[in-house]
Amino acid sequence: MTVIWTTEAVVVRVVRYGERDAILTLLTETGLVTAMARGGARPVGRLSAAARLCAQGTYVLYQGRGMGDVRQAEIARQRRALHEDVVKAAYAAYLCDLASRAIPERPDAPPAAYRQFVAVLDGLEADRVPADVLARAFELKVCAWLGVGPDWRVCIRCGAPLVETGEAPRYDPREGGLICPRCASLAGLDAVRGWPVPRKTSAVLHLLAHADIAKLHRVDLSGAMRDALSRILAHQLREFAGVGGRARQVLDEIVASLPDPPAEGHGDLDT
Ligand SMILES: [Zn+2]
Repeated sequence: MTVIWTTEAVVVRVVRYGERDAILTLLTETGLVTAMARGGARPVGRLSAAARLCAQGTYVLYQGRGMGDVRQAEIARQRRALHEDVVKAAYAAYLCDLASRAIPERPDAPPAAYRQFVAVLDGLEADRVPADVLARAFELKVCAWLGVGPDWRVCIRCGAPLVETGEAPRYDPREGGLICPRCASLAGLDAVRGWPVPRKTSAVLHLLAHADIAKLHRVDLSGAMRDALSRILAHQLREFAGVGGRARQVLDEIVASLPDPPAEGHGDLDT
């Protein structure tokens, strides 16, 4: 049995197949789907624009047995800026890779996955929020979808609230969550005392985890906070969900190799 169906989608992976064709992984509103774009690997052609990473539009798929075929596509967003700027291209490639590994196939995607992914690409294009903060917000969604996102407001050992306390919590890399100063100091010599993190880490993680990425704006975080979030979430995803390790390493290497790091903000998170 074959069906032709139409879906809104974003391209999250492109694998060249032979000289002319490309196998696309599309993120739709209900999850991932794989489809062949015939002629998609050609520089110019009917499906070339539809077979580029981050392209977004309406795809008409012909589904027989096995992999579907892209029959037609009307591209609404080419997202050229995400290909032209080195930093944006690196973040876009990382986020696409993360989405392609962390979001389930149709029809099992979490309801917000498509919208939040589109929002993170939009944010990257628009430049209102630093790229690393957008990536951290999306990583926090992924942690929650994969069941490795603890309640960042409380100590994972004793349940004490962390947001109101004046003292800095620590991140426990073995358990995958924040611990209060008391639990950190009680830990024996052999036990992990955790990584020191800035005082407001708990509040910022909770806020970014629950924020609608489309509504983030004027996020102003210190360099120390951004470093802590980066380290925590890379570890959380790699160790507890098994995603993002290699792609995240590539991203970090590209960003580190650039001459001017992004200007560091000072002050609190403001959304
Ligand atoms: Zn505790």
